[in-house]
This record gives sequence, structure tokens and C-alpha cells, in this order.
Amino acid sequence: MNYKLVSILVVFALLVFGCGKKEEAPKMTQVEQPKLQAPASSIIKDFENPDTLKTEINKYAVVEMKYDPSILTDKEKQALILMVKAAQVMDEIYYKQVYSKNLEMKAALEKWVKEQPEAKTILDMFKLYMGPFDRLNADKPFINLSEKKPEGANFYPEDMKKEEFETFVKANPKEEKAFTSTFTVIGRKDGKLAAIPFSEAYKPELEKAAQYLKDAAQIIENPSLKKYLTSRADAFLSNDYFQSDCDWMDLKDHKIEIVIGPYEVYEDAMFNYKAAFEAYISIVDPVESQKLSNISKYLDDMERNHPVDNKYKNFKRGASSPIFVVNQVYVGGQGKAGVQTTAFNLPNDEIVREKKGSKKIMLKNVSDAKFNKSLLPISEKILSPEDYKLVSFEAYFDFVLMHEVSHALGPMFVNKNGVQSTVAKELKELSSTIEEAKADILGVWNCWFLASKGIFPKDLEKTLMPSYLGGCFRSIRFGVTEDHAIGTLIQMNFLTEKQGIVYNTATDTFHVDPTKINEAVKLLVKELLEIEGTGDYARAKTLIDKYGKPTPEILKALDKLKDIPTDIFPVFAIESEIK
Ligand code: ZN
Repeated sequence: MNYKLVSILVVFALLVFGCGKKEEAPKMTQVEQPKLQAPASSIIKDFENPDTLKTEINKYAVVEMKYDPSILTDKEKQALILMVKAAQVMDEIYYKQVYSKNLEMKAALEKWVKEQPEAKTILDMFKLYMGPFDRLNADKPFINLSEKKPEGANFYPEDMKKEEFETFVKANPKEEKAFTSTFTVIGRKDGKLAAIPFSEAYKPELEKAAQYLKDAAQIIENPSLKKYLTSRADAFLSNDYFQSDCDWMDLKDHKIEIVIGPYEVYEDAMFNYKAAFEAYISIVDPVESQKLSNISKYLDDMERNHPVDNKYKNFKRGASSPIFVVNQVYVGGQGKAGVQTTAFNLPNDEIVREKKGSKKIMLKNVSDAKFNKSLLPISEKILSPEDYKLVSFEAYFDFVLMHEVSHALGPMFVNKNGVQSTVAKELKELSSTIEEAKADILGVWNCWFLASKGIFPKDLEKTLMPSYLGGCFRSIRFGVTEDHAIGTLIQMNFLTEKQGIVYNTATDTFHVDPTKINEAVKLLVKELLEIEGTGDYARAKTLIDKYGKPTPEILKALDKLKDIPTDIFPVFAIESEIK
């Protein structure tokens, strides 16, 4: 270790020590803030291999996310800036949700960088992962932090075990709703566990974000967007997101596509109950959207075509499932942490989904960037030459689209001993993994279906699986503990076991067997839809335990991909206009 680095570390240790003291007087939330466990000097001692950090950040290809405001009026341009400011507040809240010491660490790093510009790599990593934990490496701290990331992130007291939560809820059934709510955090009040609404826990931030949204609503002329901005601002203060989720579904003829609020529950690895805040601000691509919205007319046909018993088919999706293709302007909160999202399906509230359906947003400029920077070069290294030749952006884009469509298909409610429950509640912490695997493989099944109907090009039957397989390898580089990655491993191992994917030991490449892949996909679709339809936790666990790990062949292939960018690191052009 060189001298300069030692001095940087001492400075940082001091800064952290200062922050540690500040933490003892919590005022940001009503959740009790844990005290630092060890003397500050031992929390961040040194970086075992400083060059590693540089290599890690270089795995991300920096891409400037430009945006084309030419279709916006001057008023819309002003409103767009306000929306991005609200999205930046989601960053602040999300930092708090991930880890109790995040904001103090970030402030320390920002101060430190002013004195030691060399520390910028560490700050960049911190901003990319939105905390000190490496999201591509099982959440291992990328700095020498003596603590592990708490399983329940900062949604629960750090000393709370799963059993304590479960025992409390059993003993206090009236509290169950608040405790398992997506929109509360769990703290301790007078030594007892207590559920605290987000609107209280993050009050100052949510008031600030609500004001930006209200100001934007004043300027916006599109009535549906004006309504959503207003009702979402109200939801931040009332903690009731139902109406604004419905209003988001009703957005119509709008040019700025904004979704903002608490949505995904992956960050809560303990129970998958608590939602993380995020925001996606984009500009709608009207031509692409029109083309893709045609697919939503085939939802019932696709459901009918699922290779399962009729009792697992779900035709009560609600009125509509619109699809939008957009170009991203800014992403905030969880959507920005680590791996960049190319597409999403919201809202997650099953009651809203039954009433209104769900909406799919495809981020085309993000997809484009990823395909070129990583999927193509990955495919070249791990696929057989004849499979590589078939890889195409169109096939990849159609697959991601159908992944999103397929989230809205299949079972959502389960009957457990006469009581109606949801798939997510029954499968608990396994639900995200199962749902992601289902959306992928059902996406493949439905792509083939649409190609057979002439909605997608006929050559998709050839190009889809090689493009899909390249995409699988791109996904599992994100770390094998992440829900999407485990879901991907299940597919790769299952399809290989059924000989739909064949490994060539002579060339260390993978090949899709066109004569066997169809049957292999069908069997996996059936397995996943039955797990969800029955809400069978034990069967889900068996599937994940058997297939959710990388094989030696997969690990060997991953080894060849070291020099290819893992993902993109977006830099948002609009941020330079804000400041
Ligand atoms: Zn998904």
C-alpha cells in the first residue's frame, strides 16, 4: 500500500468517526438508528487491493444518456426539470433505505474527495451501488467495512431476527397488516417492535418531493398527467398509494412518462415486504409504442396457450395492459443502483392490477446501449459461431418486451384452505426469484406464439434462443444472489438438463438444439406456473435449490467474459442543466 493511500484512509477514518458520533442523535427518522458496533478506526481500515476498485468501476461502460426535448413544449421542458428534481429526492430516501449509515458515509466521501481527488473511484462506486455493498458480488462491502449488509436492509432494526418479527406478528394479529405492509418500516418504540408509515419515516424528503410534483402539475397541460402528479404528491403525504397507482395507469396522450414512488421489494431480502423508492423519468416514443400496443390485444390468447391446466389460467387481469416504449431522461433511487433496468412492469399492487391491469415501460435507449456494450461481445465468446450469427437486437428487444408482458400473465391469487391469498404472500422471500424466472421463460413461450401468429417476424423462431442465451450470460454476471440471476440460473440449468441447451466441451461454447428446446421450455413454463398457481413454497424451494446455482461449465464461461463491460454507468445529460 502506498503512502498516499494510507493518508487518504486516515482522513476517511476520521471523517467516518465524526459521522458515527452524529448518528447517536437521530433526527431523520423515528426508527432507532443503531450505534456503531466497533471503534470507527476499525470500521474502514484499509482497502485490501486499491487497484481492484479501479478495475471494478471500469467494468461499467460510461454512457451519456442524452435526451431529445424537441417534441416537448417550453412548459413541458420546465415541468421535466421539476420532475427530475423530485426523482433526485428518491435517491436521498433510497440511500436511507439501503443502509443506516449510508448518508453519513456519502457525506464523508464527498468531503474527502475535495481533499483527495484520488478517492473519486470510491465515491463513484458508492454512487453506482448506492451504498458500500457490491451488488455484483453478493453484497460484500467493497471497502473494508466490518459489518455485513443487514438482510432486511434498513427496513427493520438491524438486531431484529426473522423469528422475532414472526413471533410478534403471531402474538399481535391486529398489527399484521401494518407490519407486512409494503409502505412501512419497522422500528422499536419503548423496546417493542413498531410499524412506522413511510410518510412519517421519510417525512422531510417526501414533503420536498411532493412540492416538486405539485409545481410540475401546475405547469403541465395534459389532464391525465396533471392528475397523476397531484395524486402522487398527495400519496407521499398520506401513505395511501392506491389512487395514484390507478391514475398512473390512466395516463393518456402524455409525452413525459414519469413513475415515482415506492415499488420493488427486492431490497428487503428478509421478507420481500418493504418497497424501495425509485423514479423513472422518460420521454415517450409514440411510433414504437403504437406498434407494441398491438400485442396487448393478444393477452387472452397467450393465457389460453399456456401449457398448464385451465385452473392455473388467469383471465381477470383488469381493463388494459398498455405498453410504452420510451427513452430515459433520468432514473432515481433503486432503479439506478447497480445494474440498469431496461424494462419494468408496474404497479405491483395486486388490487390495482386486477382493477386496472399493469403498464409496461421499455427503456429503448438503455436497451440499445447494453446490447452493444455487452450482449454482443458476450455472445461472441460463449456461443457457437452459428448461434452467434443469429443474435440480433430485434430478437433481444422482443424478448425483454415479452418478459414484461408475461409478468401480467399467469396466476396472481391462490386459494389456501378456502382463504384467498396472493402468490407473493405464499412464496414469501422466494417470490421474486420465481416470478422473474416465470416472466423470462413464459416470455420465450409467448414470443414463439406471437411469431406463429405473424405479430412478430417469423425468423424469431431461429434468432430468439441464441439472443436469449447471450442475455442469460449477461444477467448472471450481476451476481449469483440477486433474484433475477438465480431465476436465470434455474432456466439455464433446467434447459440444459432437458438438452435444449448443449455445451460443447471441445470449444467451451453453448449451442441451442432447435429440436429439443421447445419441449424443454414447455416443461419449465409448466413447473413455474404450477408453483405460482398452488402457492407451493416447498416446491419453489426445491426448484431453486436444485437449479439456482452456477455449474462448472457456466463458471468457466463467465471466466472468459472478464474484459467485457458488465453493464453501463449512465450519466444523465439533464443533470448538468439542473444544479
Ligand atoms: Zn421482471
